[in-house]
Amino acid sequence: MNTDNTQNAQNAQADSTVDPTEIAGLADLADKATAKVVTWLTAARSDTTRGKNTGAAKRLAAVLSDPNGLDFTVGFVDRVIRTEDRDAAAKALADLGDLTPKTLSWLDQAQIRAGSALATTIPQIVIPTAKSRIRQMVGHMIVDANDRPLGKAVAELTAGGQRLNINLLGEAVLGEEEADHHLAETRRLVSRPDVDYVSIKASSVASQINLWGYEESVDYVVERLTPLYIEAAKAPKGSKFINLDMEEYHDLRLTIDVFKRLLSLPETKDLEAGIVLQAYLPDALGALQELSAFGAERVADGGAGIKVRLVKGANLAMETVHAEMQGWPNVTCASKQATDANYKRVLHWALHRENLSGLRLGVAGHNLFDIAFAHT
Ligand SMILES: Cc1cc2nc3c(=O)[nH]c(=O)nc-3n(C[C@H](O)[C@H](O)[C@H](O)COP(=O)(O)OP(=O)(O)OC[C@H]3O[C@@H](n4cnc5c(N)ncnc54)[C@H](O)[C@@H]3O)c2cc1C
Repeated sequence: MNTDNTQNAQNAQADSTVDPTEIAGLADLADKATAKVVTWLTAARSDTTRGKNTGAAKRLAAVLSDPNGLDFTVGFVDRVIRTEDRDAAAKALADLGDLTPKTLSWLDQAQIRAGSALATTIPQIVIPTAKSRIRQMVGHMIVDANDRPLGKAVAELTAGGQRLNINLLGEAVLGEEEADHHLAETRRLVSRPDVDYVSIKASSVASQINLWGYEESVDYVVERLTPLYIEAAKAPKGSKFINLDMEEYHDLRLTIDVFKRLLSLPETKDLEAGIVLQAYLPDALGALQELSAFGAERVADGGAGIKVRLVKGANLAMETVHAEMQGWPNVTCASKQATDANYKRVLHWALHRENLSGLRLGVAGHNLFDIAFAHT
Protein backbone atom coordinates (compact mmCIF):
# COMPACT_ATOMS: atom_id res chain seq x y z
CA MET A 1 0.00 0.00 0.00
CA ASN A 2 1.48 3.40 -0.82
CA THR A 3 1.68 6.12 1.82
CA ASP A 4 -1.11 8.12 0.19
CA ASN A 5 -3.50 5.21 0.53
CA THR A 6 -2.41 4.61 4.12
CA GLN A 7 -3.11 8.25 4.86
CA ASN A 8 -6.52 8.10 3.15
CA ALA A 9 -7.41 4.97 5.11
CA GLN A 10 -6.42 6.70 8.36
CA ASN A 11 -8.40 9.76 7.34
CA ALA A 12 -11.48 7.70 6.54
CA GLN A 13 -11.20 6.04 9.93
CA ALA A 14 -10.85 9.39 11.68
CA ASP A 15 -13.92 10.67 9.83
CA SER A 16 -16.11 7.61 10.41
CA THR A 17 -17.71 9.39 13.37
CA VAL A 18 -18.88 12.32 11.20
CA ASP A 19 -22.61 12.34 10.51
CA PRO A 20 -23.30 11.85 6.70
CA THR A 21 -25.81 14.74 6.67
CA GLU A 22 -23.08 16.95 8.09
CA ILE A 23 -20.81 15.91 5.21
CA ALA A 24 -23.53 16.91 2.71
CA GLY A 25 -23.74 20.27 4.50
CA LEU A 26 -19.98 20.70 4.16
CA ALA A 27 -20.19 20.07 0.40
CA ASP A 28 -22.81 22.80 0.19
CA LEU A 29 -20.39 25.10 2.03
CA ALA A 30 -17.82 24.57 -0.72
CA ASP A 31 -20.14 26.26 -3.25
CA LYS A 32 -20.84 29.10 -0.84
CA ALA A 33 -17.09 29.50 -0.27
CA THR A 34 -16.44 29.76 -4.02
CA ALA A 35 -19.11 32.46 -4.31
CA LYS A 36 -17.52 34.32 -1.38
CA VAL A 37 -14.11 34.26 -3.12
CA VAL A 38 -15.70 35.87 -6.19
CA THR A 39 -17.12 38.69 -4.05
CA TRP A 40 -13.76 39.25 -2.34
CA LEU A 41 -11.86 39.36 -5.64
CA THR A 42 -14.40 41.74 -7.14
CA ALA A 43 -14.11 44.03 -4.11
CA ALA A 44 -10.28 43.85 -4.20
CA ARG A 45 -10.19 44.84 -7.89
CA SER A 46 -12.30 47.90 -7.27
CA ASP A 47 -10.30 48.93 -4.17
CA THR A 48 -8.40 52.00 -5.32
CA THR A 49 -6.15 52.05 -2.23
CA ARG A 50 -4.34 48.99 -3.62
CA GLY A 51 -2.74 50.98 -6.43
CA LYS A 52 0.01 52.36 -4.17
CA ASN A 53 2.49 49.48 -4.38
CA THR A 54 1.49 48.02 -7.71
CA GLY A 55 4.93 48.52 -9.33
CA ALA A 56 6.84 46.72 -6.59
CA ALA A 57 4.18 44.01 -6.24
CA LYS A 58 4.21 43.38 -10.01
CA ARG A 59 8.00 43.08 -10.03
CA LEU A 60 7.96 40.61 -7.15
CA ALA A 61 5.23 38.58 -8.87
CA ALA A 62 7.40 38.55 -12.02
CA VAL A 63 10.41 37.27 -10.06
CA LEU A 64 8.41 34.49 -8.43
CA SER A 65 6.81 33.31 -11.68
CA ASP A 66 10.25 32.21 -12.98
CA PRO A 67 11.28 28.61 -12.09
CA ASN A 68 14.47 30.03 -10.46
CA GLY A 69 12.59 32.94 -8.87
CA LEU A 70 12.21 31.54 -5.37
CA ASP A 71 15.81 30.28 -5.14
CA PHE A 72 17.04 33.62 -6.46
CA THR A 73 14.95 35.66 -4.00
CA VAL A 74 15.76 33.53 -0.96
CA GLY A 75 19.45 33.43 -1.94
CA PHE A 76 19.48 37.18 -2.45
CA VAL A 77 17.85 37.99 0.89
CA ASP A 78 19.73 35.40 2.97
CA ARG A 79 23.15 35.52 1.35
CA VAL A 80 23.46 39.09 0.02
CA ILE A 81 21.17 41.32 2.08
CA ARG A 82 21.62 39.65 5.47
CA THR A 83 25.34 39.01 5.12
CA GLU A 84 27.36 41.65 6.93
CA ASP A 85 30.72 40.64 5.45
CA ARG A 86 30.86 42.57 2.16
CA ASP A 87 33.20 40.14 0.39
CA ALA A 88 31.02 37.15 1.30
CA ALA A 89 27.94 39.04 0.06
CA ALA A 90 29.79 39.87 -3.19
CA LYS A 91 30.73 36.22 -3.73
CA ALA A 92 27.07 35.22 -3.15
CA LEU A 93 25.86 37.83 -5.64
CA ALA A 94 28.36 36.56 -8.21
CA ASP A 95 26.96 33.01 -7.72
CA LEU A 96 23.35 34.17 -8.06
CA GLY A 97 23.82 35.79 -11.48
CA ASP A 98 23.03 32.50 -13.28
CA LEU A 99 19.67 32.30 -11.52
CA THR A 100 18.51 35.76 -12.70
CA PRO A 101 14.75 35.37 -13.33
CA LYS A 102 14.01 35.72 -17.05
CA THR A 103 10.53 36.97 -16.20
CA LEU A 104 11.98 40.32 -15.04
CA SER A 105 12.16 43.30 -17.38
CA TRP A 106 15.32 43.42 -19.56
CA LEU A 107 16.51 46.45 -17.55
CA ASP A 108 16.22 44.63 -14.20
CA GLN A 109 17.91 41.55 -15.70
CA ALA A 110 20.74 43.66 -17.10
CA GLN A 111 21.27 45.38 -13.70
CA ILE A 112 21.40 42.05 -11.85
CA ARG A 113 23.77 40.47 -14.38
CA ALA A 114 26.05 43.53 -14.34
CA GLY A 115 26.02 43.58 -10.51
CA SER A 116 26.76 39.87 -10.42
CA ALA A 117 29.64 40.19 -12.92
CA LEU A 118 31.25 43.13 -11.08
CA ALA A 119 30.42 42.09 -7.49
CA THR A 120 33.79 40.63 -6.55
CA THR A 121 35.78 43.33 -8.44
CA ILE A 122 34.12 46.44 -6.93
CA PRO A 123 32.09 45.11 -3.97
CA GLN A 124 32.24 48.52 -2.23
CA ILE A 125 29.97 49.94 -4.97
CA VAL A 126 27.93 46.93 -6.07
CA ILE A 127 26.83 45.57 -2.66
CA PRO A 128 25.36 48.81 -1.20
CA THR A 129 23.63 49.47 -4.55
CA ALA A 130 22.18 45.93 -4.67
CA LYS A 131 20.97 46.23 -1.07
CA SER A 132 19.22 49.52 -1.66
CA ARG A 133 17.65 48.18 -4.90
CA ILE A 134 16.17 45.14 -3.15
CA ARG A 135 14.86 47.40 -0.38
CA GLN A 136 12.99 49.37 -3.05
CA MET A 137 11.48 46.11 -4.33
CA VAL A 138 10.36 44.61 -1.04
CA GLY A 139 10.28 47.77 1.08
CA HIS A 140 6.48 47.69 1.17
CA MET A 141 6.60 44.28 2.90
CA ILE A 142 9.52 44.66 5.30
CA VAL A 143 9.74 47.51 7.78
CA ASP A 144 12.86 48.88 9.48
CA ALA A 145 12.51 47.87 13.16
CA ASN A 146 14.50 50.82 14.50
CA ASP A 147 12.38 53.06 16.73
CA ARG A 148 11.70 56.02 14.48
CA PRO A 149 11.02 54.25 11.12
CA LEU A 150 8.98 51.58 12.91
CA GLY A 151 6.81 54.20 14.63
CA LYS A 152 6.17 55.89 11.29
CA ALA A 153 5.35 52.60 9.55
CA VAL A 154 3.02 51.45 12.35
CA ALA A 155 1.17 54.78 12.27
CA GLU A 156 0.73 54.56 8.48
CA LEU A 157 -0.29 50.89 8.47
CA THR A 158 -2.85 51.26 11.26
CA ALA A 159 -4.33 54.55 10.08
CA GLY A 160 -7.29 52.73 8.52
CA GLY A 161 -8.06 50.80 11.74
CA GLN A 162 -6.02 47.69 10.81
CA ARG A 163 -4.21 45.72 13.51
CA LEU A 164 -0.65 44.51 12.99
CA ASN A 165 1.15 41.32 13.86
CA ILE A 166 4.85 42.21 14.07
CA ASN A 167 7.40 39.52 13.38
CA LEU A 168 11.05 40.44 13.79
CA LEU A 169 13.11 38.89 10.98
CA GLY A 170 16.46 37.18 11.52
CA GLU A 171 15.09 34.25 13.50
CA ALA A 172 17.68 31.62 12.63
CA VAL A 173 19.87 32.20 15.68
CA LEU A 174 23.25 30.53 15.80
CA GLY A 175 24.46 31.43 19.27
CA GLU A 176 23.35 32.66 22.68
CA GLU A 177 24.35 36.23 21.88
CA GLU A 178 22.08 36.36 18.83
CA ALA A 179 19.26 34.69 20.76
CA ASP A 180 19.65 37.27 23.56
CA HIS A 181 19.53 40.03 20.98
CA HIS A 182 16.38 38.64 19.32
CA LEU A 183 14.65 38.30 22.68
CA ALA A 184 15.68 41.78 23.84
CA GLU A 185 14.48 43.30 20.56
CA THR A 186 11.12 41.51 20.89
CA ARG A 187 10.79 42.83 24.46
CA ARG A 188 11.55 46.30 23.15
CA LEU A 189 8.75 45.89 20.59
CA VAL A 190 6.23 44.64 23.16
CA SER A 191 6.97 47.56 25.47
CA ARG A 192 6.17 50.11 22.74
CA PRO A 193 2.75 51.71 23.22
CA ASP A 194 1.99 51.43 19.48
CA VAL A 195 2.69 47.66 19.27
CA ASP A 196 0.01 45.29 20.53
CA TYR A 197 0.90 42.00 18.79
CA VAL A 198 4.24 40.24 18.26
CA SER A 199 5.12 36.80 16.95
CA ILE A 200 8.11 34.83 18.15
CA LYS A 201 9.49 31.31 17.77
CA ALA A 202 10.89 29.16 20.59
CA SER A 203 13.94 28.39 18.46
CA SER A 204 14.67 32.09 17.86
CA VAL A 205 15.15 32.94 21.54
CA ALA A 206 17.09 29.87 22.62
CA SER A 207 20.14 28.60 20.79
CA GLN A 208 20.77 25.49 22.91
CA ILE A 209 17.63 23.42 22.38
CA ASN A 210 18.58 19.76 22.52
CA LEU A 211 15.78 17.24 22.43
CA TRP A 212 17.94 14.58 24.11
CA GLY A 213 17.50 16.75 27.20
CA TYR A 214 13.81 17.43 26.56
CA GLU A 215 12.69 18.50 30.05
CA GLU A 216 15.76 20.70 30.47
CA SER A 217 15.13 22.30 27.06
CA VAL A 218 11.50 23.09 27.99
CA ASP A 219 12.68 24.59 31.32
CA TYR A 220 15.31 26.64 29.52
CA VAL A 221 12.93 28.08 26.88
CA VAL A 222 10.25 28.80 29.52
CA GLU A 223 12.83 30.58 31.68
CA ARG A 224 13.92 32.73 28.74
CA LEU A 225 10.40 33.65 27.65
CA THR A 226 8.85 34.19 31.10
CA PRO A 227 9.88 37.87 31.48
CA LEU A 228 8.37 38.68 28.05
CA TYR A 229 5.05 37.03 28.90
CA ILE A 230 4.92 38.62 32.36
CA GLU A 231 5.58 42.02 30.83
CA ALA A 232 2.70 41.51 28.37
CA ALA A 233 0.45 40.26 31.20
CA LYS A 234 1.13 43.40 33.24
CA ALA A 235 -0.22 45.66 30.47
CA PRO A 236 -3.95 46.53 30.55
CA LYS A 237 -6.02 43.44 29.69
CA GLY A 238 -6.23 42.75 25.96
CA SER A 239 -3.64 45.38 25.02
CA LYS A 240 -0.69 43.02 24.31
CA PHE A 241 -0.69 39.72 22.45
CA ILE A 242 2.19 37.27 21.94
CA ASN A 243 2.04 34.49 19.40
CA LEU A 244 4.33 31.47 19.40
CA ASP A 245 4.91 30.61 15.74
CA MET A 246 5.68 27.08 14.66
CA GLU A 247 8.70 26.17 12.58
CA GLU A 248 9.74 22.54 12.22
CA TYR A 249 8.18 19.32 13.45
CA HIS A 250 10.92 18.74 16.00
CA ASP A 251 9.75 21.90 17.79
CA LEU A 252 6.03 20.96 17.89
CA ARG A 253 5.91 19.14 21.25
CA LEU A 254 8.39 21.55 22.80
CA THR A 255 6.46 24.63 21.63
CA ILE A 256 3.15 23.27 22.97
CA ASP A 257 4.71 22.39 26.34
CA VAL A 258 6.43 25.78 26.59
CA PHE A 259 3.16 27.54 25.67
CA LYS A 260 1.17 25.64 28.31
CA ARG A 261 3.82 26.22 30.99
CA LEU A 262 4.01 29.96 30.25
CA LEU A 263 0.23 30.31 30.39
CA SER A 264 0.01 28.30 33.62
CA LEU A 265 2.05 30.87 35.56
CA PRO A 266 -0.06 32.74 38.14
CA GLU A 267 1.20 36.04 36.66
CA THR A 268 -0.14 35.22 33.17
CA LYS A 269 -3.58 33.98 34.21
CA ASP A 270 -5.40 36.85 32.48
CA LEU A 271 -3.18 36.98 29.40
CA GLU A 272 -4.64 35.63 26.18
CA ALA A 273 -1.79 34.36 23.99
CA GLY A 274 -1.52 32.36 20.79
CA ILE A 275 0.21 29.41 19.15
CA VAL A 276 0.35 28.12 15.57
CA LEU A 277 -0.58 24.64 14.38
CA GLN A 278 0.36 23.28 10.96
CA ALA A 279 -2.23 21.16 9.17
CA TYR A 280 0.40 19.49 6.96
CA LEU A 281 1.26 17.50 10.09
CA PRO A 282 -1.07 14.55 10.71
CA ASP A 283 -0.57 15.42 14.43
CA ALA A 284 -2.44 18.74 14.05
CA LEU A 285 -5.89 17.55 15.15
CA GLY A 286 -4.59 15.81 18.29
CA ALA A 287 -2.56 18.92 19.14
CA LEU A 288 -5.61 21.15 18.69
CA GLN A 289 -7.73 18.88 20.89
CA GLU A 290 -5.09 19.08 23.62
CA LEU A 291 -4.91 22.87 23.34
CA SER A 292 -8.70 23.23 23.28
CA ALA A 293 -8.90 21.26 26.55
CA PHE A 294 -6.12 23.41 28.04
CA GLY A 295 -7.92 26.64 27.03
CA ALA A 296 -11.24 25.38 28.41
CA GLU A 297 -9.60 24.52 31.74
CA ARG A 298 -7.98 27.95 31.92
CA VAL A 299 -11.30 29.68 31.32
CA ALA A 300 -13.08 27.40 33.83
CA ASP A 301 -10.44 28.49 36.39
CA GLY A 302 -11.35 32.14 35.76
CA GLY A 303 -8.41 32.86 33.42
CA ALA A 304 -8.20 34.06 29.81
CA GLY A 305 -8.61 31.72 26.86
CA ILE A 306 -6.00 30.95 24.22
CA LYS A 307 -5.78 31.48 20.48
CA VAL A 308 -4.68 28.92 17.90
CA ARG A 309 -3.74 30.02 14.40
CA LEU A 310 -4.25 27.26 11.88
CA VAL A 311 -1.93 27.25 8.85
CA LYS A 312 -0.94 24.53 6.38
CA GLY A 313 2.77 24.84 7.15
CA ALA A 314 5.62 26.70 5.52
CA ASN A 315 8.53 24.29 6.05
CA LEU A 316 7.77 21.39 3.74
CA ALA A 317 11.17 21.72 2.05
CA MET A 318 13.11 21.53 5.35
CA GLU A 319 11.04 18.61 6.63
CA THR A 320 11.72 16.76 3.37
CA VAL A 321 15.46 17.45 3.58
CA HIS A 322 15.62 16.17 7.19
CA ALA A 323 13.68 13.03 6.30
CA GLU A 324 15.84 12.30 3.26
CA MET A 325 19.09 12.88 5.13
CA GLN A 326 18.09 10.53 7.96
CA GLY A 327 16.31 7.97 5.76
CA TRP A 328 13.12 8.52 7.80
CA PRO A 329 9.56 8.83 6.50
CA ASN A 330 8.54 12.46 6.06
CA VAL A 331 6.58 13.84 9.03
CA THR A 332 4.18 15.82 6.82
CA CYS A 333 1.02 14.57 5.11
CA ALA A 334 1.82 12.52 2.02
CA SER A 335 0.41 14.93 -0.57
CA LYS A 336 -1.00 18.40 -1.08
CA GLN A 337 -4.48 16.86 -1.21
CA ALA A 338 -3.93 15.13 2.14
CA THR A 339 -2.77 18.43 3.67
CA ASP A 340 -5.79 20.27 2.27
CA ALA A 341 -8.09 17.57 3.65
CA ASN A 342 -6.40 17.67 7.05
CA TYR A 343 -6.74 21.48 7.14
CA LYS A 344 -10.49 21.11 6.63
CA ARG A 345 -10.69 18.26 9.14
CA VAL A 346 -9.01 20.39 11.82
CA LEU A 347 -11.23 23.36 10.95
CA HIS A 348 -14.33 21.19 11.07
CA TRP A 349 -13.47 19.91 14.55
CA ALA A 350 -12.54 23.37 15.80
CA LEU A 351 -15.65 25.13 14.56
CA HIS A 352 -17.98 23.41 16.98
CA ARG A 353 -19.15 25.59 19.86
CA GLU A 354 -18.24 23.02 22.53
CA ASN A 355 -14.60 22.94 21.34
CA LEU A 356 -14.27 26.72 21.43
CA SER A 357 -15.08 27.41 25.07
CA GLY A 358 -11.49 28.45 25.82
CA LEU A 359 -10.19 28.77 22.29
CA ARG A 360 -10.24 31.47 19.64
CA LEU A 361 -9.39 30.23 16.17
CA GLY A 362 -7.31 32.15 13.61
CA VAL A 363 -7.22 30.91 10.03
CA ALA A 364 -4.16 32.01 8.07
CA GLY A 365 -3.06 31.32 4.53
CA HIS A 366 -3.01 32.68 1.02
CA ASN A 367 -5.55 30.25 -0.44
CA LEU A 368 -8.70 32.32 -0.64
CA PHE A 369 -10.88 29.23 -1.10
CA ASP A 370 -9.79 27.78 2.24
CA ILE A 371 -10.16 31.12 4.01
CA ALA A 372 -13.64 31.50 2.51
CA PHE A 373 -14.51 27.91 3.50
CA ALA A 374 -13.60 28.68 7.12
CA HIS A 375 -15.37 32.04 6.98
CA THR A 376 -18.56 30.53 5.58
C1 LIG B 1 -0.73 35.38 8.81
C2 LIG B 1 0.04 34.13 8.48
C3 LIG B 1 0.78 33.50 9.47
C4 LIG B 1 1.51 32.32 9.20
N1 LIG B 1 2.22 31.71 10.21
C5 LIG B 1 2.87 30.53 9.96
C6 LIG B 1 3.60 29.83 10.98
O1 LIG B 1 3.71 30.26 12.13
N2 LIG B 1 4.18 28.65 10.66
C7 LIG B 1 4.10 28.12 9.39
O2 LIG B 1 4.62 27.04 9.15
N3 LIG B 1 3.46 28.78 8.41
C8 LIG B 1 2.83 29.97 8.66
N4 LIG B 1 2.16 30.62 7.65
C9 LIG B 1 2.33 30.15 6.28
C10 LIG B 1 1.30 29.16 5.91
O3 LIG B 1 1.69 27.91 6.41
C11 LIG B 1 1.30 29.24 4.38
O4 LIG B 1 0.37 30.20 4.05
C12 LIG B 1 0.93 27.97 3.81
O5 LIG B 1 1.98 27.11 3.97
C13 LIG B 1 0.53 28.11 2.37
O6 LIG B 1 -0.70 27.48 2.36
P1 LIG B 1 -1.97 28.13 1.66
O7 LIG B 1 -3.18 27.48 2.21
O8 LIG B 1 -1.87 29.59 1.75
O9 LIG B 1 -1.72 27.77 0.12
P2 LIG B 1 -1.94 26.45 -0.70
O10 LIG B 1 -1.30 26.71 -2.01
O11 LIG B 1 -3.37 26.00 -0.68
O12 LIG B 1 -1.12 25.33 0.08
C14 LIG B 1 0.28 25.22 0.00
C15 LIG B 1 0.68 24.39 1.19
O13 LIG B 1 0.20 23.04 1.04
C16 LIG B 1 1.13 22.16 1.63
N5 LIG B 1 1.67 21.26 0.60
C17 LIG B 1 2.03 21.59 -0.66
N6 LIG B 1 2.51 20.51 -1.31
C18 LIG B 1 2.46 19.49 -0.43
C19 LIG B 1 2.85 18.12 -0.51
N7 LIG B 1 3.37 17.60 -1.62
N8 LIG B 1 2.69 17.36 0.60
C20 LIG B 1 2.15 17.86 1.74
N9 LIG B 1 1.76 19.15 1.86
C21 LIG B 1 1.92 19.96 0.79
C22 LIG B 1 2.26 23.01 2.22
O14 LIG B 1 1.95 23.31 3.57
C23 LIG B 1 2.18 24.25 1.37
O15 LIG B 1 2.75 25.37 2.00
C24 LIG B 1 1.46 31.79 7.90
C25 LIG B 1 0.72 32.43 6.89
C26 LIG B 1 0.02 33.58 7.16
C27 LIG B 1 -0.78 34.23 6.06
